[in-house]
Amino acid sequence: MSRRRRVYEGKAKILYEGPEPGTLIQHFKDDATAFNNKKQDRVEGKGVLNNRISEFLFQKLGEVGIPNHFIKRLNMREQLIREVEIIPVEVVVRNVAAGSLAKRLGLDEGTALPRSIVEFYYKSNELNDPMVSEEHVTAFGWANPQEIDEMIAMALRINDFLSGLFMGVGIRLVDFKIEFGRLFDNEMMRIVLADEISPDCCRLWDIETQDKLDKDRFTKDLGGLIEAYQEVARRLGLFVDNRPGDGSGPVLVSSK
Ligand code: UDP
Repeated sequence: MSRRRRVYEGKAKILYEGPEPGTLIQHFKDDATAFNNKKQDRVEGKGVLNNRISEFLFQKLGEVGIPNHFIKRLNMREQLIREVEIIPVEVVVRNVAAGSLAKRLGLDEGTALPRSIVEFYYKSNELNDPMVSEEHVTAFGWANPQEIDEMIAMALRINDFLSGLFMGVGIRLVDFKIEFGRLFDNEMMRIVLADEISPDCCRLWDIETQDKLDKDRFTKDLGGLIEAYQEVARRLGLFVDNRPGDGSGPVLVSSK
């Protein structure tokens, strides 16, 4: 059992108080959920893979000038992050029709979109994360117009960068969800990328075979979720020691 103070627990992650003010520890669980928690399972090793993949992508995005909350990875399941005030809006970027967009507009899954599309969803489990417009976001004060502009600009830059990165390893970035937060630095406030970017919140299709290498393997009962996430990590050049029971080995300083 951990003695650290738990600040927040979500479906796939726990946030603990960090070692210094203004920091948090983000812990990746093995829990998989879909349909707003109606479908649940534990997938051994998923948290380790998401921690590693998200670390890699946030670092790469930082290197190309996308400010984000990531500080450093602490162990197999945890990373040190800056504490931010999460903007309660999920930003989805789409390059190819899939999931809810394909359903809503009656498009065939896999249809390339005329251009990348940015959408907003209000973060609310009770309401099932409803899609909202910029009007809703500003009228209800979830973000102001300048913050919306910044989120859209950053989301499109992230999309360009990640699309290229994944394309280079034979993966098509179909769509993804990101979250932003307000980071307070003395008197200054800026918007930074927060949360995670992993196969839990992206659609990643193999360019050759169209195989799904993401959470749809769980959502659609396709099986092989861990193998798919491992394949993503492998192609990104990440070594992830993902033996069963990892997290309790002698070299790991774990919170469990
Ligand atoms: N997504 C997410 N969390 C959510 C909803 C969506 O990470 O609560 C991601 C999802 O994995 C996909 C993209 O956002 O990469 C677009 O999801 P969509 O709207 O198609 O919904 P879905 O069909 O995944 O429910």
